[in-house]
Amino acid sequence: MDFALSAEQVAFQDAVRAFAKRELEADALARAHSEEFPRDVAKKMAAAGLLGITLPEADGGQGGTLMDAVLAIEEVALACPRSADLIQEGNFGAIRVLARFATEDQKKRFLAPILRGEEIIAVAMTEPEAGSATTDLATAAIPDGTGYRVSGTKVFPNPHADQFLVYVRYGPGVDGIGSVMIRRGTSGFTIGKPAKFMSGAHWAPLYFDNVYVPPEDVLLGSGGFRKQMAGFNAERIGNAARSLAFGRYCFNLARDYALTRKQFGRALCEFQGLQWKFADMKVKLDAAQLLLYRAAVNADRGFPAADETTIAKLMCNQAGFEVANEALQVMGGLGYTQETLVEYCVRRTRGWMIAGGSIEMMKNRLAETIFERRFSQRPPRRAQ
Ligand SMILES: Cc1cc2nc3c(=O)[nH]c(=O)nc-3n(C[C@H](O)[C@H](O)[C@H](O)COP(=O)(O)OP(=O)(O)OC[C@H]3O[C@@H](n4cnc5c(N)ncnc54)[C@H](O)[C@@H]3O)c2cc1C
Repeated sequence: MDFALSAEQVAFQDAVRAFAKRELEADALARAHSEEFPRDVAKKMAAAGLLGITLPEADGGQGGTLMDAVLAIEEVALACPRSADLIQEGNFGAIRVLARFATEDQKKRFLAPILRGEEIIAVAMTEPEAGSATTDLATAAIPDGTGYRVSGTKVFPNPHADQFLVYVRYGPGVDGIGSVMIRRGTSGFTIGKPAKFMSGAHWAPLYFDNVYVPPEDVLLGSGGFRKQMAGFNAERIGNAARSLAFGRYCFNLARDYALTRKQFGRALCEFQGLQWKFADMKVKLDAAQLLLYRAAVNADRGFPAADETTIAKLMCNQAGFEVANEALQVMGGLGYTQETLVEYCVRRTRGWMIAGGSIEMMKNRLAETIFERRFSQRPPRRAQ
């Protein structure tokens, strides 16, 4: 067992760090509070080879590993937390599902513009009545000639996206679920009034009113759900990596602050009450990082193991939020202002404890691994 990064990984990490410092660091504060989605960053990342890191070169990717993408998230987030969102969208989740299941024609029309940094993709899965109970989703895809008519409502996706990977129901049960690609501007598809998460990021309801989806825009038909959920495991690695990186960003800032800020004639780092906070923070960050790296490294070039990903997401979500929150405390009134990004990181890391599979759902899933049996979350069926 070797806990050190390889020479190639260190070189890649150094290159991403240099890019992030040069291109992203100076505007990090403004970017975090901007109302605009940072599309310019996507272009810069495409030029630097940071989109599609894990995708095959034949598909326009870099042919790297999930671990490379995790390193990229970490290095970008340490310089500019908000820019790490672009690494997430360009490497984990929907983009990997696309690369894995799209036809060559779909890759050209949907995947290629994302990899060029020209378009943004969002997942439209959650519905008003189907959150954690994803498989209750009701957005219907009804056959119409060789294509489908899609009707339903989705909530919480990024409304700035150009294309949406929409989970739909072709028929009853889990096996009736699949997905289609729908572009912004398609007739019958309306993006509702944008609202804000606590993080400041926008979301909006999506309304599909008898939207025609041609056969060439169907990504996965009936039975596609389980395949897509496997892709969601990769999304969770990205989610975990961002949580942890945001926690580390705050830790670094608070550490520097504790070394220089003086009260009672002494540097803050000389107070034992704060030293112990830093010791606890470091243990949380390092433990979470090991679990994250285990999940990423053990993942093959396809999709990672569900239980390792679940554990990594749980631990990184908690560690990221708790460390960011403690760092804010260490920085006192300044930490609570918007003069630094610590309060931003607290708000962002809080969201990832809900998004992409909540902490509670991760624990439910883990319990099934521990006891090697399924625990249905649904009420028991009444005897007839
Ligand atoms: C920042 C952010 C970004 C998001 N981005 C997207 C996106 O891009 N696309 C998209 O489709 N969705 C997105 N979502 C939605 C997200 O996937 C859902 O919020 C999540 O699945 C939880 O669903 P819900 O909000 O309906 O909560 P509910 O499912 O109603 O759950 C409410 C609470 O009950 C708990 N709970 C529910 N069931 C159980 C159970 N069986 N056991 C124990 N506890 C349970 C949950 O953990 C939660 O704490 C985003 C959410 C957030 C916060």
